Parts: sequence; structure tokens; C-alpha cells
Amino acid sequence: MQQVKLVADMLDANSQLAGQNRKLFEERGILSVNLMGCPGSGKTALLERTIEKLGKSYGIAVILGDIFTTRDADRISSLGVQSVQINTRGARNLDAGMVGRAMQKLNLEGVDLLFIENVGNLVCPAEFDLGEDTKAVVASVAGGHDKPAKYPLMFSECRVVILNKLDLLPHVDFDMSRFISDVRKLNPPVQFFPLSARTGEGMDEWVKWLGDRVKNKARQLSFRGF
Ligand code: MG
Repeated sequence: MQQVKLVADMLDANSQLAGQNRKLFEERGILSVNLMGCPGSGKTALLERTIEKLGKSYGIAVILGDIFTTRDADRISSLGVQSVQINTRGARNLDAGMVGRAMQKLNLEGVDLLFIENVGNLVCPAEFDLGEDTKAVVASVAGGHDKPAKYPLMFSECRVVILNKLDLLPHVDFDMSRFISDVRKLNPPVQFFPLSARTGEGMDEWVKWLGDRVKNKARQLSFRGF
């Protein structure tokens, strides 16, 4: 019982801090995207390709969560965008406080789009609100079509499902219609983007959708007279 209370208190504190992050995103007109998914689903590769396509049009910054190492941040900063690596030292997800502190290390002036690459995990990140605008799950055909059925919270909480590594489809047993119908059952309005970050197939649809949302966010800000 004690433990249940502790978890409830922790999630309460998290949602307060998530509210602060959300307020900051609103005030600055920043579209924030929380990228979640298994280790190896290709979250960082997707980020690299997305930054290559959108980086000339928009100010982009990235917060990366990993249990250890700064390898992902090294990959991202080589593309010339600001990034902050959070090492959670064992924690299996980012929380709103970690993201808030990481944002203090970024110069948010001119940032239109903030990516938050969560720790590779299909369970814990779904339980923590970071104050983000969009939760996106990255799955891959190599990871199998059973992920939505096995991790329903993640797939029902998100607004976007990206199915990566489409180029591997001829080499793996992946039942596409099963995957799609399981996702739709959990989350009928979800945006679905099958793509390959490696070959670029399907990337344009994802990038267009994202770019439209960034523009929309900036428009909302000017309506409010900032
Ligand atoms: Mg990564």
C-alpha cells in the first residue's frame, strides 16, 4: 500500500513539472515531440534523417535520454543542431524534471521544434507525461508485429506510430495487416507512418506532417500576440 502511495506521489510531482514544461513550449511556440520505442528501433537514425530534411527550414534542438553513454548526442551534434544528453543512470525513462533541467542547458531562442528521444523501452516512458505536444512511438519491422498487442499502453497513449526499417520487410516475418489492425484497435485516430530511415522511403510523408504541425504551432503563437 505504501508503495502504491509513493508511485502516486511521484506521478503527481511529475505532472506538475510536465505542466511547467508545457507552459514553456506554449509561450515559445515550440512543437515538442517525445520519441519512444525499443532499443534498436531506429529512433536516433530517424532523428538524423528528419533533421537533415527539416533543419534548413526550422530551428531544431534535441534532448536525448540514455541509461549510459553520450553516443546518440555525438551523432546528433555532428549535424549542427543543439543537443543535450541525459544519462538516467539506471532509470528506464525520462521524467518531466529531467527534461525541464535539460531545457535550461539549451538556448531556446529560435527553436521551433524540440525532439526528446526517450530511453529505449516500450513500457515506462508511456507512464510519464513530459509536457510534450506529441508522443510518437518508433517500432520496426525487425522488432516484430506483436509489439502493439504486447505493449498496449504505449500504442494507445501515442499520437503517432512510426514503423521503421521498411527496407527489411522482405527478410523478416512481419504481418503488416496484423500490426496495423492491432494499432487501430487500440488507437483509431493515430497517425501511421511506415518508412525506412535508411533508404528514405516514406520519410517525405512524415516530414511533411511534422513540418505542418511546426507551422501551425508558430501560427497559434502569433494569434495570441506574442
Ligand atoms: Mg538512440
